[in-house]
Amino acid sequence: LALKRIEINGFKSFADKTDIVLSPGLTVVVGPNGSGKSNVADAIRWVLGEQSPRSLRGAKMEDVIFAGSDRRKPVGMAEVSITLNNEKGLLPVDFREVTVTRRVFRSGDSDYLLNRSPCRLKDLQELFADTGLGREGISIIGQGKVDEVLSSRPEERRAIIEEAAGIVRYRNRKREAAKKLEETQQHITRLDDIIGELE
Ligand code: ATP
Repeated sequence: LALKRIEINGFKSFADKTDIVLSPGLTVVVGPNGSGKSNVADAIRWVLGEQSPRSLRGAKMEDVIFAGSDRRKPVGMAEVSITLNNEKGLLPVDFREVTVTRRVFRSGDSDYLLNRSPCRLKDLQELFADTGLGREGISIIGQGKVDEVLSSRPEERRAIIEEAAGIVRYRNRKREAAKKLEETQQHITRLDDIIGELE
């Protein structure tokens, strides 16, 4: 599942539309301290559905929108798109190339797009489960993450192994099915009550 392209517009230090095209092989981003290298990784985590402003090094979600600089006015919207090569069909959709977009406005409105069509965060989470890009994705190893994995609780470590093993999608579906079963059981109990009253 190769990352082909990252488009960043109005996200953190990227006031202007920035297009990063990745060629096959290893890509290294270099630059002085504070020039925005980590912001590129933040952009990828954000477009993949990151919900915690703190893990994006901010206090609130609005902090991902370019806040202005000495020479530039703030902007009103942050938008990030990543394009993945899906030729091997690793993502369960009928597209050879998948572009995922996330936008947020200062008003708080936000949306997600899959190949430019609106979708829900849930659709993206489902799409990326078990690919290593899912929630708690293991494809992005942040600073200090290796230490964290080594010192994490067994349950947390298990979650990482489960994502790598590719069973997260099925566990999520099992949880949803169990919930439906529970609801159905409650309906049956209620129906039994009503039948009892009628008899
Ligand atoms: P280091 O090598 O020190 O880790 P880096 O190249 O990874 O640095 P980042 O942490 O990615 O740098 O970038 C930090 C810069 O991004 C800071 O200058 C900060 O002011 C800027 N920045 C972060 N959020 C915003 C925002 N919402 N608006 C404008 N600039 C922002």
